[in-house]
Amino acid sequence: MTEQHAVAHRICPLCEASCGLVIEREGQQVTRIRGDEADVFSAGFLCPKAVSLKELHDDGDRLRSPLVKRDGRFVAVSWDEAYAEIERRLPPIIAAHGADAVATVLGNPVAHKMSLMLYFPRLARALGTRNMYSASSVDQVPKMLSVGLMFGNWMTVPVPDIDRSDYLLVLGANPMVSNGSMWTVPDYRGKAKALRARGGKIVVVDPRRTETAQAADAHHFIRPGGDVFFLLGLAHTLFEENLVRLGRLAPHVAGLDALQAAVQPYPPERMAARCGVPADVMRTLARELAGARRGAIYGRIGTCTQQYGTLASWLIDAINVLTGHLDAAGGAMFPKAAAFAANTRGKPGTGRGVVMGRYRSRVAGAPEVMGELPVTCLAEEIDTPGPGQVRALIAIAGNPVLSAPNGARLAAALEQLDFMVSLDIYLNETSRHADVILPGVSPLEDAHFDVSFGQLSHRNHARYSAPVLARADGQPDEWESLLRLAAIVKGMGRNADLDAWDTALLEEEVQKSAGPATPHVMAALAPRRGVERMLDLALRSGPYGDQFGAQPDGLTLAKVQAAPSGIDLGPMQARIPEVLRTPSGKIELAPAVLLADLARVAEALGAPDEAPTLVIIGRRQLRSNNSWMHNLPVLAKGPYRCTALVHPGDAARLGLADGGRAQIRNGARMVEAQVELSEEMMPGVVSLPHGWGHDLPGTQLGVAAERPGANLNALLDEQLRDPLSGNAVLSGIAIEMRPC
Ligand code: SF4
Repeated sequence: MTEQHAVAHRICPLCEASCGLVIEREGQQVTRIRGDEADVFSAGFLCPKAVSLKELHDDGDRLRSPLVKRDGRFVAVSWDEAYAEIERRLPPIIAAHGADAVATVLGNPVAHKMSLMLYFPRLARALGTRNMYSASSVDQVPKMLSVGLMFGNWMTVPVPDIDRSDYLLVLGANPMVSNGSMWTVPDYRGKAKALRARGGKIVVVDPRRTETAQAADAHHFIRPGGDVFFLLGLAHTLFEENLVRLGRLAPHVAGLDALQAAVQPYPPERMAARCGVPADVMRTLARELAGARRGAIYGRIGTCTQQYGTLASWLIDAINVLTGHLDAAGGAMFPKAAAFAANTRGKPGTGRGVVMGRYRSRVAGAPEVMGELPVTCLAEEIDTPGPGQVRALIAIAGNPVLSAPNGARLAAALEQLDFMVSLDIYLNETSRHADVILPGVSPLEDAHFDVSFGQLSHRNHARYSAPVLARADGQPDEWESLLRLAAIVKGMGRNADLDAWDTALLEEEVQKSAGPATPHVMAALAPRRGVERMLDLALRSGPYGDQFGAQPDGLTLAKVQAAPSGIDLGPMQARIPEVLRTPSGKIELAPAVLLADLARVAEALGAPDEAPTLVIIGRRQLRSNNSWMHNLPVLAKGPYRCTALVHPGDAARLGLADGGRAQIRNGARMVEAQVELSEEMMPGVVSLPHGWGHDLPGTQLGVAAERPGANLNALLDEQLRDPLSGNAVLSGIAIEMRPC
């Protein structure tokens, strides 16, 4: 070991599993990345993506200085010059056209950045715009809406307690590859193996025999988008066969009779043709789940990215309630996060619940959910003239030109903006349209605490990562970049005293909860600043916190920092009724808005079943989670992965050859992709991974451009949404395929 050799701990920011890593370095060079065997949550697990953190940090394509577009070309400038350009151009747009003229769009990496998570709300408040968009509406908004309606908060998401479970029914999810989504469960493979070794059973229902299905006890194909019919068949069976057991939840449930009446018209025998799952299989699965001593049904992306996403998300949790598995050990339980969880704040057991549709998007009239509008509405809000038109955009850690449907329209719309700022680590397919790009911080240069994923973890814990490497000279932390943008928007100027303003803002917030104790709380937090001060506040006032001295054994940031592999806070515990924040103080089993939405199901069943002969779905891959990962050699190497999986029977019918190229069409939209024959696919279903299509000009993603891949989203219609949540429909889109 040299004098410069050092070992650091870092929570991996590359996917929701949030594995604990040990990172060795010599000076400022990372020499080794491995799983932290002492990590209280992930116990040494890691996947191949983790080692790419070094390549991400060292990547010559990663932006290291601000860029300003002059005469159509980006030039490197100082931070002050970049902020001066923003100050020159953004406030006049707000002054002339109002707050809604500026939109914001966030990418999924925001969820993996403490700075961005905690300080974007400051910028959003400063802007006061209704035009807020994010990757959530091409992902999980249906789940957040359904749990909000049922349990009273967007993030009160029940997750399988897999360590104590005997039965798992997995729908539209591939945790063997993802290690959980809206369910933070590193080493799903090991946990699934242990479940089966103790006599348990895993059943997967999916249009592809995924890696998760291959390691399960049983797999059943389902028609893409057919989940709501399948789930209605299950719920119907539970009532019809007298399998409903609310157990200890009985006094805490509202709407049981209404739910029974709602699912009564949907027996499995009527649903089978629409979902492609035989009626006897549906009845068997309902009986197995109901009979399991400890079990749960879990659904994910496939159940969300479809026209019935909110209904399907709701029925999954309703079925867990009906089978007595909600809030029970080994069932679907509610994590209790150490910090930032709204369901640990306020009066336990009751609250204001959630409200949606407070306003609607200007052009399509799509309802607001969680203060956001569907990202698929962004292009039309920019390119449709009229009062309220979006004229400027602040894009943060996102690439919606590739990751949202019909990126071509969005790309054209971005060119029409009066001004665009990106905060990003890359010059990608979206940030190339910006007028100013502020470079983000390498994950190895910032401190981290999972703001969201502690609220979704299968076991409670508290972990903090200090920066592994020093930030480059002059590079601000991302919270400082956001706060400076907020100061510019507020008219305080780019040279505003951020620390003084930040302290004043925090004090206002503390005042609301601490009242007269505010000076004491602020004094206790005083040595810290920025995100770490916010984190200390959240931990100390959180459910395990020291309450600023009232609970001396409780958590503080200092205690969490002193435990580099984290602090274990035990398995999930029963939280009903304390976790509820509904106005009734009950689990709302039959929210009116969801019952009303069943009319669409009834209408569909009343119409002829005109199932397309070929539809397309997406695919999660182990070596990719975000489009920028295609620029990291360690992840990009190896077999070509952006292939269209086609069942051999379909391939024979369509004249497609393994390894050959094919045109995939959805009306006038077309991409070309390499064909891979696969028995994994349900006949009539093709799978193409998303986030590819790196052949657009003006980017700086050299490795990704070598193998650009086909852009699944280029085939999709941005106008197709789940009407309740506004989530994009990404699955089950009718296509045609033919050899090139
Ligand atoms: S599973 Fe996710 S969090 Fe864990 S090492 Fe891989 S990318 Fe990182």
